[in-house]
Amino acid sequence: MIKNKKIDWDNLGFNVIETRSMYEATFNSSGKWESRGLKPYGNISLSPASAVLNYGQGVFEGTKSFMSSKGQAVFFRLKDNARRFAASSKRLCIPEISTDFFIDAVNEVVKDNLDYIPDNDKGSLYIRPLVLGTGPMLGVKPAKTYTFLIFVTPVGSYFKSGLKYLDAVITKKYHRAAIKSIGSAKAIGNYSGTLLPYKEIVEKGFDEIIFLNSSNEDILDEARSANIFIIKDNILKTPALQGSILPGITRDSVLKIADGMLDLDIEEGDVTIDELLNADEVFFTGTAVVVAPVGSVSLDSRKYKYRRDFENSLTKQIRDSLLDIQNEKTKDPFDWITKVK
Ligand SMILES: *Cc1c(COP(=O)(O)O)cnc(C)c1O
Repeated sequence: MIKNKKIDWDNLGFNVIETRSMYEATFNSSGKWESRGLKPYGNISLSPASAVLNYGQGVFEGTKSFMSSKGQAVFFRLKDNARRFAASSKRLCIPEISTDFFIDAVNEVVKDNLDYIPDNDKGSLYIRPLVLGTGPMLGVKPAKTYTFLIFVTPVGSYFKSGLKYLDAVITKKYHRAAIKSIGSAKAIGNYSGTLLPYKEIVEKGFDEIIFLNSSNEDILDEARSANIFIIKDNILKTPALQGSILPGITRDSVLKIADGMLDLDIEEGDVTIDELLNADEVFFTGTAVVVAPVGSVSLDSRKYKYRRDFENSLTKQIRDSLLDIQNEKTKDPFDWITKVK
């Protein structure tokens, strides 16, 4: 594969680099997805009265394409992103995009930007599908017209200076999402509310924030855009999907790897603050961060530290198993990998 010469491949971060093209389709007022196809990467135009700008009627996805160790471009569990996109859309009254339509569209844009996929050891191509309510409206109701967009951008590690143990902090000041609201959808509106909490903890020197359940502050929800896991005595545990938690695909993959490949016991249920603070290992999961180890959790100005021995940790075994499947370095027992065609 000939690499795009405009890009500094050795110094990829996690930010937007423009690529050749993006995908766009529009949903017209007669109820059909039309004008489907690629166009040059660039700005879009919107009514100032559009539902997405005024009321946040929009959902997104995040997935990656990898140049695997077999030298081919692959997707990881793309069908699960397609299903979640449809489920999120349903919750926000956005017309459903079928899994086939979603998968074909992602394929098309990735295929046109193959020279933007970093080599196996340098990063991946981040894929961002989104669907937005576009038509003009004043009352609070679903839009009549929509735009489905997919842009892609090469990314390196989420962490600028390589993998590191994160200093996390539990907040009792803010919630991320209420349990019967839209926390389980990848709704764009869920993220603006985390900006101020995050700004405040970064000013205090922390890396990530842990939100508590909005109806029971003894138990954990998740981070801003990552799920949380604890390990204690060979038991891997994560909060159950009770409504406010985003059903992460990395979360599900980690559970299946731990259960099927690593012989850990897995549990989904209430994870109390006490369990978190007394855990052997703690980590976050998400497409962007993959599996990110936590070195300390702070609560009410007390800091609880975990052992920082990544080489000998179960967290590393889980992370490596996942990355090895994604990079086709080992057998894929779950049929998670599909080729870019
Ligand atoms: C996207 C996201 C995650 C992680 O989901 P993955 O499918 O693993 O990328 C976790 N929490 C929130 C709030 C998210 O938006």
